[in-house]
Amino acid sequence: MQSTMMDVPLSLNHLLERAGTLFANNEIVSRLPDKSLRSHSYGEYHRRTRRLAAALQKLGLKKGDRVATLAWNHHAHLECYFGIPAAGGVMHTLNLRLAPDEIGWIAGDAEDRFLVVDDILLPLYRQFAAKHAFEKVIVFPFSGAPVDTSGGHLDYEALLADADGDGFVYAAHDENDPVAMCYTSGTTGRPKGVVYSHRSTVLHTFIGCLTDHWGLRSTDSLMPVTPMFHANSWGLPYAAVMLGIRMVFPGPHLHPDDLLDLMQLEPPTLALGVPTIWMGLIQAYDRSLVEQPGRWKLPTGMRSLVGGAAVPEALIRAFAKHGIWIIQGWGMTETSPIATVSYPRAEVQALGDDERFRRAAMAGIPVPLVDVRIRADDGNDAPWDGKTVGEIQVRGPFITGSYHRVPPSEDKFTDDGWLRTGDVAAMDELGFVRITDRTKDLIKSGGEWISSVDLENALMAHPSIAEAAVIAIPDAKWSERPLACIVWKPGAAIAPADVADALGKHLLGHGFVKWQLPDRYEVIDGVPRTSTGKFWKLKLRERFPR
Ligand code: ADP
Repeated sequence: MQSTMMDVPLSLNHLLERAGTLFANNEIVSRLPDKSLRSHSYGEYHRRTRRLAAALQKLGLKKGDRVATLAWNHHAHLECYFGIPAAGGVMHTLNLRLAPDEIGWIAGDAEDRFLVVDDILLPLYRQFAAKHAFEKVIVFPFSGAPVDTSGGHLDYEALLADADGDGFVYAAHDENDPVAMCYTSGTTGRPKGVVYSHRSTVLHTFIGCLTDHWGLRSTDSLMPVTPMFHANSWGLPYAAVMLGIRMVFPGPHLHPDDLLDLMQLEPPTLALGVPTIWMGLIQAYDRSLVEQPGRWKLPTGMRSLVGGAAVPEALIRAFAKHGIWIIQGWGMTETSPIATVSYPRAEVQALGDDERFRRAAMAGIPVPLVDVRIRADDGNDAPWDGKTVGEIQVRGPFITGSYHRVPPSEDKFTDDGWLRTGDVAAMDELGFVRITDRTKDLIKSGGEWISSVDLENALMAHPSIAEAAVIAIPDAKWSERPLACIVWKPGAAIAPADVADALGKHLLGHGFVKWQLPDRYEVIDGVPRTSTGKFWKLKLRERFPR
């Protein structure tokens, strides 16, 4: 017997049309380089996106061709999100925080044909232009200055003005056709390309909109701080367009003061970013209470989707005091990216506040359609006891099954087809995943593992500590021992001679035992950040090799 349902492909084009027809009056706000705000209606957004698609086809874009973007978070980048696939192309977001040579290498590996670049990022483009020859360079006049086309560059606005958006016909496609690609940010190795399809993107979008997930609704105002080049801003822009939700893009202004200013002008109800963004924000806010009381008001009632790195419980509690609820997600570029989400399911709510915060500091439970297993060292699945650790492996319709141009011999899949994430975790009886480390960051001391993440979270719960990162240093007797790099809160340092003693006592109070305590503490000015704003322990390992 066969299903009697219509064979209609899942498609981003449908989401775009829906936004343009049902939500034409809703707004998309972008912060421009001069910090002014520019607003577009979804009606305009829809027209402009169709024009972009028509223009790309006129320039000769063929099905499956890659179009790179080098852009901040703003409306034109969102036009690329839907306009490039509408034309049959594949949007490839370049990470503007990488070294120029690396960006050039990635553009070459992806075989990008065209580039859409913010005018204010042209100096960066010039630094890698020799590494990869784009056939067309389309400059978006983000700053408002006229585009210099004398050297052969094209003006994004002129292209749109000349294009026939009304007559545009969507490229024919199958739901498995590619729409976007992203490179892993290479925190632990060479960047690799992950290619998303209409199908994988639509399914990830739907699951994200579940109430227990990030739960978008029509009354939301969304502020994506996560860059649109970081795993597609975790898929939220697709969801916002699907539901025609007000969006507020911060543009290039990601300093905590700028974000707090923007939150006064355009209070979000849902924002997203990596933990370091929120650490910076709360530190700036706390400082303002002393230095400039009343300067900012935090957006009470806001939800904040935080992931990309472990989220300390202390951070979740700090925001909760202001009525801001952090929802933690775990995933990676390969998982579209959100594969688990922490939310207070009914059983957890019944257990009271402490338990709710404890679970909120975990990666959460697998989202629908994603299978998660923890492979223990003995090769068996770890029991859901909250203790037995192993590598997280995942499988599902929006989990990548291969990498662009990477031979199967070098990839990260098990023989039975699961993705090996390289993250180490335990799962508890309710299915909550607790990430204890990345395989590379675990500290192996005397044959036992010490979780750097657990130590960091406990250290960051200390009232004097703003940031903490723990790395392994070689040790003749124990093989490796933990070294903790700490950043004091302004004016809150402990006397140097007392640090090990005071912090050791603090950690013992958090359930650590003596052999797990760091042997050494180094006070630093700030933890180095990766291109996606995470703690960059590789740099600390280079700085403290022993
Ligand atoms: P990169 O691997 O280069 O950092 P990604 O942005 O794809 O690039 O990062 C994925 C990784 O980020 C995961 O494998 C995991 O180590 C880490 N990560 C993501 N979310 C969380 C989380 N909630 N808790 C702990 N680690 C996380």
